[in-house]
Amino acid sequence: MRIDRKRLETSIEELGAIGATPRGGLTRLALSDEDRRGRDWMVARMREAGLRISIDRMGNIFGERAGTEPLPPVMMGSHADSVPTGGKYDGQLGVLCALEAIRSLNDHAVRTRHPVTLVIFTNEEGARFQPAMIASGVMAGKIALEDAYNARDKDGIRLVDELERIGYLGPEPCVARPIRAYLELHIEQGPFLEEEKLSVGVVEGIVAISWSRLTIHGVQDHAGPTPMRIRHDALVAAAEVVTGVRGIARDLGGDVVTTVGNLTVAPNIVNAIPGRVTLSIDMRDPRTETLDRARERLDRIVREAYEREGVRYELEHYWQVPYTPFAPEVIAAVERAATTVGARWRRIRSGAGHDAQYMAAIGPTGMIFVPSHDGRSHCEEEFTSIEDIEDGANTLFLAALELAGRA
Ligand SMILES: [Zn+2]
Repeated sequence: MRIDRKRLETSIEELGAIGATPRGGLTRLALSDEDRRGRDWMVARMREAGLRISIDRMGNIFGERAGTEPLPPVMMGSHADSVPTGGKYDGQLGVLCALEAIRSLNDHAVRTRHPVTLVIFTNEEGARFQPAMIASGVMAGKIALEDAYNARDKDGIRLVDELERIGYLGPEPCVARPIRAYLELHIEQGPFLEEEKLSVGVVEGIVAISWSRLTIHGVQDHAGPTPMRIRHDALVAAAEVVTGVRGIARDLGGDVVTTVGNLTVAPNIVNAIPGRVTLSIDMRDPRTETLDRARERLDRIVREAYEREGVRYELEHYWQVPYTPFAPEVIAAVERAATTVGARWRRIRSGAGHDAQYMAAIGPTGMIFVPSHDGRSHCEEEFTSIEDIEDGANTLFLAALELAGRA
């Protein structure tokens, strides 16, 4: 039994047309009008497939295909929102491959012991409302519903008001319920599968993440009359930190990645010595202990920069998530499915967060990666070939079938 590649290709094109950008990408921000149209399209397809639809208080959409026994469901899905000028594979592909897997169960009139449920999570990207993965976070009991409701976009609009406006403020409680398993297919968003000419990655877990915030206070002064010897330049200290943060990854080696992605300079004008700089530090590694060492190094780098430039600083390590391992039985089911499909696969770890991270706190969870061309994502150039998608979708289909148990 296999999925219908042509039908899957058509649905990628149809859903991808909602919020399409002129250069082949996608802008479908969470709870926007485009998101509503995308959701409506999905719900219509789910009804056609005979699924029982329910929507929870975070706007997560569920479509259940009944099982033959009163057992917890095998859940599969992803998110359907995108970043601005993002691609049409991130998120949407996981939702559409799950739909295709269910359609294929219907084609072959297969009955399963466990129900099989498609899920579409609200606001995974965090591009419009922070934090990212907010709705699976509420579901896993890690984020309070009230806090999620009060998340505001850059125009001050509340998440709950947008949920209501687009008609997806559902009645069902957004809480953890028993699941047989959760499976999510997603693009890799990195270069490894393509470099090794593989079509499927069997994801073993999601890396540990550590976020820090640094504020450097120098002395703001005139760029002309102030001689170099009496300057306390916050940006010069920040530049040392930026280089130092990259050095952490070089020195620790292995898989650790370190990034300064956000920098705010005040007053940020041509003729003043910068008085204040804030910057973000993102560090990731599969081993939680490595990040403890990375944070110690960061402390030292900042202290040295501060001594050299004579500035003051505040360094806050404000957010950390440990490594999220996936369930061995789900990983094994995905490996068997990938082998049966004839996919070229290997085990891999995810460097990005996904809804699966929170779902792993609820029940046995696993993910399937398909390659990203040039490793690129969150851009209009995002691309995965239909051949690789077919291998991934078939892997999802067979793994879900095994976990749901043929009746
Ligand atoms: Zn995604």
